[in-house]
Amino acid sequence: MLNNQGRPTAPSEAPRRARKTFTSNRALQIEEALIFEIGDACVTGVDIDEPAPFQPRLGAHERTSAIGLPGLSEPETMRHYVRLSQKNYAIDSGPYPLGSCTMKHNPRLNEQMARLPGFGDVHPLQPQSTVQGALELIDRLAHYLMTLTGTHAVAMSPKAGAHGEMCGMMAIRAALEARGESRTRNVVLVPDSAHGTNPATAALIGFDVRAVPARDDGTLSLEAVKAALAPDVAAIMITNPNTCGLFERDVVAIAEAVRAAGAYFYCDGANFNAIVGKTRPGDLGVDAMHINLHKTFSTPHGGGGPGAGPVVLSERLAPFAPVPFVRRSGGAFSLVEHARGGQAFGRVTAFHGQMGMFVRALSYMLSHGSDGMRQASEDAVLNANYVRVCLSDAMSPAFGERACMHEALFDDEWLKGTGLTTLDFAKAMIDEGYHPMTVYFPLIVHGAMLIEPTESESRASLDLFIMALRDLALAAKRGDTERFTGAPRFAPRGRLDETRAARDPVLRWTPKKPVDEPKTVE
Ligand SMILES: *Cc1c(COP(=O)(O)O)cnc(C)c1O
Repeated sequence: MLNNQGRPTAPSEAPRRARKTFTSNRALQIEEALIFEIGDACVTGVDIDEPAPFQPRLGAHERTSAIGLPGLSEPETMRHYVRLSQKNYAIDSGPYPLGSCTMKHNPRLNEQMARLPGFGDVHPLQPQSTVQGALELIDRLAHYLMTLTGTHAVAMSPKAGAHGEMCGMMAIRAALEARGESRTRNVVLVPDSAHGTNPATAALIGFDVRAVPARDDGTLSLEAVKAALAPDVAAIMITNPNTCGLFERDVVAIAEAVRAAGAYFYCDGANFNAIVGKTRPGDLGVDAMHINLHKTFSTPHGGGGPGAGPVVLSERLAPFAPVPFVRRSGGAFSLVEHARGGQAFGRVTAFHGQMGMFVRALSYMLSHGSDGMRQASEDAVLNANYVRVCLSDAMSPAFGERACMHEALFDDEWLKGTGLTTLDFAKAMIDEGYHPMTVYFPLIVHGAMLIEPTESESRASLDLFIMALRDLALAAKRGDTERFTGAPRFAPRGRLDETRAARDPVLRWTPKKPVDEPKTVE
């Protein structure tokens, strides 16, 4: 095995690699070095003619040494990338119970629709008369998002949940400015169970963040919110269902109190998958909410995007929605890019949003229908409760017997006395072929393990997952610590020194020998 400096790693990984193979490959799992470490700068997969003589015009910027690009033949390149792709665990390989992330199956029909040339090849600078279908699609999706949420407007352009949060909070700030209160109202209330993006968003926009403590049962109390409400409060940001996987039962009363205090209610809609077709956030008093199309509406995510985070807005925030938006008049669609005379706060991105994600989300909606979307939510909640109940005697549910929404949350109480941690348990799951659940989030639950199976998993798949976790839990309680502290044993890499990786990251690859001038191989 080579480390990233091209040196073989010391055999310190024993006993994990006690039975090391000659090649470091394990069965058909092939070790893969960095692309710079395989091949040779002299090799190329294509024949390129010598360039005709020319006069460089780069002056002092002209390169004097070899560039050092990796050199691989076509079959070597193929193998390199295919092997790398096989190391990537994905929802298409197995269950991915990463709580809060809603890793659900992306129906292949969505992919087929997104690749239709009229959608796939569309360019944001095309004349509007040539993209009427694309504009109609955005308009239709916007209509469904408003219908499902019971709201009055939607900004389609934000490109992720966090980006949607920023957009929604900017609309709130614009509304406060219009009221002449943007200076006096500079505080945003955020429950201590919130996702980190919530306080980060509020702070980025220039608000001060004030934490609201959750109750022992994991939910927010009207009293705590009322106690925190003051004339300097601009908004509250609440996730519902919340990050503990619980529905905030007092949400309507909280929304009324927030409104009565002259503030706005931002809802983090990342957990919308639990309530689509069951509850409309607008009816709960929400003023703004982002919808992660890449979570709830199945567009693919992980690996960094692209996502899409449209923000729905209540009647009182609708006038401040950013441009662009699609306007329908008669049978024609136009894109409003400059809302002259209006109160739009501006724009949050170049162009019009993630077209490919819009197509996939609409395809998901149309193929499911309203009954199918409601059933998806019900199944997501059913699956989470099945997991919760089947594991409740082996592990410790964070909030006792209370039914959850789409996520089952456990704490590390059950690991007491075993000498093992949540992290050890998560790493051992990798050896069993499972992507771990979300761990240590939400912060208010000690050693949290947040399992979100989604509606994609079948009963058989859930049963196997539950049996695997029960087996691990029994092993932990039996004192079989080696299975945990040495985990993952069967993954391409063992337990990483995550602290060192974060504090002392090696971001630059240094060649082990000087790069040769490229030569043509005969
Ligand atoms: C995923 C998530 C976000 C952020 O969404 P991105 O699309 O990743 O930016 C915010 N809040 C919660 C609760 C989430 O789960």
